[in-house]
Amino acid sequence: MALEEYKRKRDFRQTPEPPPKLAKGGRRRFVVQKHRASHLHYDFRLEMEGVLKSWAVPRGPSLDPADKRLAMQVEDHPVSYFDFEGIIPAGNYGAGTVMVWDVGTWEPQSDAREMLNKGDLKFRLNGKKLKGDFALVHMKSRRLGTKGTEWLLIKHRDAYDQPGYDIDKYDHSVLTGRSMDEIAGDAGSAEWKSRPASVAGRSRKNDWLAESIAIADAKRAKETKRAANKKTKIHPAKAAKRNPIRPEKTAPGDSSLARAGNTQVTKKKRLRAPKSPLTA
Ligand code: MN
Repeated sequence: MALEEYKRKRDFRQTPEPPPKLAKGGRRRFVVQKHRASHLHYDFRLEMEGVLKSWAVPRGPSLDPADKRLAMQVEDHPVSYFDFEGIIPAGNYGAGTVMVWDVGTWEPQSDAREMLNKGDLKFRLNGKKLKGDFALVHMKSRRLGTKGTEWLLIKHRDAYDQPGYDIDKYDHSVLTGRSMDEIAGDAGSAEWKSRPASVAGRSRKNDWLAESIAIADAKRAKETKRAANKKTKIHPAKAAKRNPIRPEKTAPGDSSLARAGNTQVTKKKRLRAPKSPLTA
C-alpha cells in the first residue's frame, strides 16, 4: 500500500492531518508546504498515481539555476494533504506549523513513472510562485550507510529563472496570505480540516485552486467570528482598554462615538474576515 508509511507514522486521533486515502483521477497538481518542525524545511509534493510523491527540501526550492537544492525523498502523502495548512500538535510526527507556500500544476516532460524510476524527473511547474522547467535528479551515492533518498532539485534556465532568488522574501501562504508566525499564532489553525474528498471529486477541472481558497476563506471567517464571540465575553472596561477609541479619527456626529466602549464596536471590527491576496 502506497500510504502505509504515512499511516504508520501518525496517530489520526491526535493530528489534524488528513487520513491515508488513495485518490482517483490523474490530475497533476503540485504543492510546496513550508514546514516549521524541529528544523525549518519545505515539502515539495507532486500529485501522481493517486498520491503526493514527496521530498523534504531543507533550503527550499529556488528559481536560481545555480542552486542545486538537496531534496530528501520521504513517504508518499495522501492527495488531500494538498491544502493542509495549520498546526501539527506537539508530540506528533512532524509537530509544528505548516503553510501552503505554493500550489499549481505540473507537466512531466515525458512518462512520469519512467522518469521517476530512472531517477531523472524533468517537469514544468505552473504555480503561483514557482514557474518554468525543473529537474529532480536522484543522487546515486556509493557511500555505505546512505539511505539512497537524496535527490537534487534544480531550476533550468528559461524565462522564469531568477538569479539570486531569496525564498525568505516570500513568507506568505498562497491559500490564506498568512505568514508562518500568523499561522502559528492562530488558535483556529489547529482545527484546520482538509476539504473532504467528495468535494474534491465534484470540482470542475480548473476550479480546484479557487475552491481551496474559498474553503480557506470560509474557514478563516468562521474562526474570526468565533474569536470575536470569545472577545465579547471580556469585561467591557477591559475591552475598551484593549481597543481604545480614537476620537480624532472619528467624523463629527458619528454615532459610533456615542457607543465608545461598547463591545459591539469591537465585535463588528473583528468579524471582518482577513482578505486573501488571491481573492483581492
Ligand atoms: Mn515536512
